[in-house]
Amino acid sequence: MLAVARCGATPVRLVSARRSQTSVNSTCCATQRTDQCCPHFASCICPSGGTLPPEVATANPMTRLYQRLSDFGLPRKYVRDVALPSWWDDAAATNPAGYAQALVVLSRHAGLELSSLRDDSATIRLNESVPHKFKKVRTASADDVGVARALATQVAKIVALGVQRSSVKVPSAAEVRQAVLDSDRRWVDLDGLLDYCWGCGVPVVHVSAFPRGAKKMDGIAARVNGIPVIVVSKEAKFSSWLLFIVAHELGHIACGHVEENQALVDDNVDVDSIDTEEVQANAFALELITGKPNTKIRLAPNQQWPNADSLAKTAQRYGQQSRTDPGHVVLNYAHSMGTKFWPVAQAALKKLEPRGSATELIRAKMAGRLNWEEIPEDESEFVMRMTGVDGGDSDADTVS
Ligand SMILES: [Zn+2]
Repeated sequence: MLAVARCGATPVRLVSARRSQTSVNSTCCATQRTDQCCPHFASCICPSGGTLPPEVATANPMTRLYQRLSDFGLPRKYVRDVALPSWWDDAAATNPAGYAQALVVLSRHAGLELSSLRDDSATIRLNESVPHKFKKVRTASADDVGVARALATQVAKIVALGVQRSSVKVPSAAEVRQAVLDSDRRWVDLDGLLDYCWGCGVPVVHVSAFPRGAKKMDGIAARVNGIPVIVVSKEAKFSSWLLFIVAHELGHIACGHVEENQALVDDNVDVDSIDTEEVQANAFALELITGKPNTKIRLAPNQQWPNADSLAKTAQRYGQQSRTDPGHVVLNYAHSMGTKFWPVAQAALKKLEPRGSATELIRAKMAGRLNWEEIPEDESEFVMRMTGVDGGDSDADTVS
């Protein structure tokens, strides 16, 4: 793609938007074409006369676009660091073709309606090409997580490109559990479930690099052109938290809750939800992890709270006997104890998993299992940024 950068009054240089493919248009800089003619307005040192007039510099449509995007909830730094490709140079937007290309990329990455981006006076709107079903908690509304949901859904669409296209049928929770246990596992843990999902054609990604302050959901179960995709957005160090969310989202897929080219958005995975589909997904997750769809674990026979150390040891023993992830044992038990007990449960989880790195585990699986050759380079870069795999610095809520 070629983009124009005007340099002073006369010389004009065309540069490829990709830095490695610089070229010069023969009609530009006809008299004084030189590599000193810099495509960046602010530092233009072209031989015909130096810096750009202010009215030209302020004519760059990116200035207005950044303001509109910021008003929408996508700050300029986030757009530059995450949504636009690393090769993008704002100077390219002074050429209509270059600006149009930026709008297409932003639409594709951030899930924005292209026509609303093109219309300078319009309010930016989300692209709803992948309809969503929102599972909310109490007073939450779908709009609360709109920006995060749109970004995560775009990641899901891109990730689906890197998965072998085949008819994926997720079996019952009991069958998934048996398959994981048969892979030489003591219990169904996050590592084993991720391997199962990727192995049967269900990619699982952790997307968390949202604009600072953007409200995000726990997870999404989507179907994109026949490929089920699980997106986890909850930040958690301990794997048992994300184990349940992945199992819950897999349950939505297995139970047929997600239609083709639809995203089911879980604002907050709530084990006490009375929503029929949530009840079914929770039962699937519990059966997958514990062997029974209604497991309520009771560990202490008396009325006293166990301390963190004894809770961790008891959970390990219980886990060995019942082939249940000890971290889930702690969470399941803690749920019955009420919110006041959570600090003790968290301390027990830390004893079970001192170097808890659940999100990193999901990222590592994606990095190793996704077929990157099937994904265009710009989209690969975007996925890397959104999932935190590249470890980049940005104005984003990321990355533990
Ligand atoms: Zn759900």
